[in-house]
Amino acid sequence: MASRDLTDHFRRLIRATGPISLAQYMAEANAHYYSARDPLGAGGDFITAPEISQMFGEMIGSWLADLRARAGASDAVYVELGPGRGTLARDALGVLAKAGDLPDVHFVEGSPALRAAQGELLANASFHQDVTSLPTDRPLMVVANEFFDALPLRQLVKTAQGWRERMVGLDGERLVPVAGDRPMDAAVPSSCAELADGEIIETCPAATAIMREIAERIARQGGAMLAVDYGHLSARTGSTFQAVARHASVDPFVAPGTADLTAHVDFAAIAEAAREAGCRIDGMAGQGAFLMALGIGHRAAALARANPAEGESILAALKRLTAPDAMGHLFKVLAHGAPGWPVAAGFANAEMG
Ligand code: SAH
Repeated sequence: MASRDLTDHFRRLIRATGPISLAQYMAEANAHYYSARDPLGAGGDFITAPEISQMFGEMIGSWLADLRARAGASDAVYVELGPGRGTLARDALGVLAKAGDLPDVHFVEGSPALRAAQGELLANASFHQDVTSLPTDRPLMVVANEFFDALPLRQLVKTAQGWRERMVGLDGERLVPVAGDRPMDAAVPSSCAELADGEIIETCPAATAIMREIAERIARQGGAMLAVDYGHLSARTGSTFQAVARHASVDPFVAPGTADLTAHVDFAAIAEAAREAGCRIDGMAGQGAFLMALGIGHRAAALARANPAEGESILAALKRLTAPDAMGHLFKVLAHGAPGWPVAAGFANAEMG
């Protein structure tokens, strides 16, 4: 679906008020981008794991089923953050339904267009604008796939005058990244103080805040969470801000509102937020290792036996989801749970603190 390009809007704003933060730019551009369209799939802008194969959602369904059974928590609700088309929820909840387990379904989704798509697949889902209105009286089992990468990113850049916020300004008519005026040295961890000029560090305050809020609820109400995204397990420097449209990388400062803006997720930071909020971290791993530990190889073999004509495409999907040079390494998985809950499956060294 065509979407209005926000360049003129940002030009006017910047002429009136001066450069705006990268976080504001990303928040407005993505809200606009997602509000009116379904960007997923071959005919859209990008493809996610649940859209590659039903096996992805099924593995998460068996992860949930195992944990629900061991916790004896048949009253726990299913929560998904940014469910896209609802494909992951449908495939995961299908696994639970086979065992007669039909949890209430709560979707945190900002986009009216995607809510409509999700409502078609999951007719009984309740919708939430943000996590604050989720149920307070039952355990929460929360799943988020490629949700945190779309949240507004903050970047700080080292200049000859010290650390500055990275903003979006104008060079003639062009939107360009510029360094802000205000000193930001106090916001930079001491480990980064000596970095060279031009170096960039990233934080995502929205991701940390949402994680903290959910983890507080889980610690209080019971439950667990599985977050899957592309990113890194420990903090690093450099910009990972990027834009994707029609399955290709594009300039994130051109035609805002018409491409998906994302950044790598700092898993160390969101795990730390969950821990501080009172949850136990059950594991962090590459997506490939996690899915293999849950038995995706066996599932692929069974599906291929049942549909010999599709054997090759099933194997191709398995590789895409798990191979180190595809999504297996770049994508990471973080699981955490309430202190009284059983430790989640899927991680070799089950308990990490
Ligand atoms: N999880 C899906 C979709 C990923 S795309 C999949 O794997 O296919 C990102 C999703 O997060 C979309 O559903 C988008 O509408 C939603 N989203 C992005 N930013 C959001 C925000 N700030 N609040 C709520 N939902 C958001």
